[in-house]
Amino acid sequence: MKDMELTTFSELGLNANLLKALAAEGYTVPTPIQAQAIPSVIAGRDLMGIAQTGTGKTAAFALPILHRLAANRRPAPRHHARVLVLSPTRELAAQIADSFKTYGRHTGLTVAVMYGGVAHRPQATAMSRGVDVLVATPGRLIDHLDQRSVVLSGTEILVLDEADQMLDMGFIRPIRQIVGKLSQRRQSLFFSATMPKEIGALAAELLRDPVRVSVAPVATTVDRVRQSVIHIEPQKKASLLVELFSDPAMKRALVFTRTKRGADKVARHLEAAGIIVSAIHGNKSQRQREEALEDFRAGRIRGLVATDIAARGIDVDEVSHVVNFELPNVPESYVHRIGRTARAGAEGIAISLCGSEERPLLRDIERLTRQTIPSTNRSGDAGLAAVGSDRGHGDGRAARGNGRPHAARPSGQRNGASNGHGHGHSHGHGGAPRNGASKGSRNGQRSGSAGDRHASAGERHAGAGGGRGHAGSRGHGGGHASRSGAAAAKR
Ligand code: AMP
Repeated sequence: MKDMELTTFSELGLNANLLKALAAEGYTVPTPIQAQAIPSVIAGRDLMGIAQTGTGKTAAFALPILHRLAANRRPAPRHHARVLVLSPTRELAAQIADSFKTYGRHTGLTVAVMYGGVAHRPQATAMSRGVDVLVATPGRLIDHLDQRSVVLSGTEILVLDEADQMLDMGFIRPIRQIVGKLSQRRQSLFFSATMPKEIGALAAELLRDPVRVSVAPVATTVDRVRQSVIHIEPQKKASLLVELFSDPAMKRALVFTRTKRGADKVARHLEAAGIIVSAIHGNKSQRQREEALEDFRAGRIRGLVATDIAARGIDVDEVSHVVNFELPNVPESYVHRIGRTARAGAEGIAISLCGSEERPLLRDIERLTRQTIPSTNRSGDAGLAAVGSDRGHGDGRAARGNGRPHAARPSGQRNGASNGHGHGHSHGHGGAPRNGASKGSRNGQRSGSAGDRHASAGERHAGAGGGRGHAGSRGHGGGHASRSGAAAAKR
């Protein structure tokens, strides 16, 4: 078995103008849903994605759609949109449109957004010349269809985002009405966090022979795990790990390394310090792996040192700690890793050791999970011995394929939190929950939608930014709702 295969955006075959925009955003590797969805969508397949916010699903559809539009450029006729994205709420619609604009900024493709609670006319004006991508909430779109300011007969690609929320909000009939105006020859992409019966039925109606992709919910896992980061020189990680094991609370720890060789080295170091562990990875026989797992389950060993792939099948309750000896290159792997603790509703602890060259990876993880992980800084700690001169399981690997300058941030703590086990629930820098999956933000979305359906009531939400406001999370743009130019098409 090979270690984690790294995929890059360019390997997915994306247009160079999109790659340029992604590099500027600091995205290094695709998230699992992106890696799975992008090639199929580029190939023109229909897609059924089971994924929620935080998995990178917006880019999973926006990137291949922009790629297809750019590969087959032609002006949309007046009032037409080549692509229609339906979103349940105005906040999500604004966010999706922003993503299209950001990723597509070197392509010259045009994007418009329409939702309730703001004036119709600028939206109609924006559509008068036709657009490449229209992002809309269902209620307001139907108004425009009635007024013939939007025509959908030529639309080539339909995206239905957060379909289960559409159901909750009573949008299934409007969606059927809208879909009835589209050509049968379109490509359709369907995203939902859950698959209740009605949503399954709707998907079956809309999709032809879809590719199915499904990724683990990010937010729920992340919420239940007490996470911390320790900044440390790579050559001192092994000594720090020994120190962590001196805590008797660390009863059953899963230690992740990026490579098989790294796993063996870490295991040897722990054994030398008298800590009984095993390494499992693809070079071990099935039998060795099973024995190690059995010992781990039975509590005969305190630690299992594993690579991502080897750890995939591990389902051991009562893993007290997950230690990321190295940060994963794919941000979503972080979520999978820490999800190994906090099983069955228990609360687990995840500690990540981060060398200065891994900081871009940490930033990707924090962006994906929409949180700032409490950190402590142990670099320069004279009490920790440096181990070995080679950087076999250190930062050298983190840097590979990353393509960005290292140590972009001055060393030190990101948020000044000093408690290594501090609770990482803040979900962002501004205090507002950014995670749309579970908290009050859902309500924020709903109230937005009420505005969409009853335009006159909607105005009170303007400027609120909704529960999903992510101003600052991507370093471009501000709160979306304040962009009242809802329909401004960017030429
Ligand atoms: P979404 O699930 O689409 O709401 O995306 C969640 C967050 O992850 C957004 O803030 C994106 O900017 C960020 N994101 C998406 N794709 C990547 C990637 N490949 N690497 C790092 N961050 C990403």
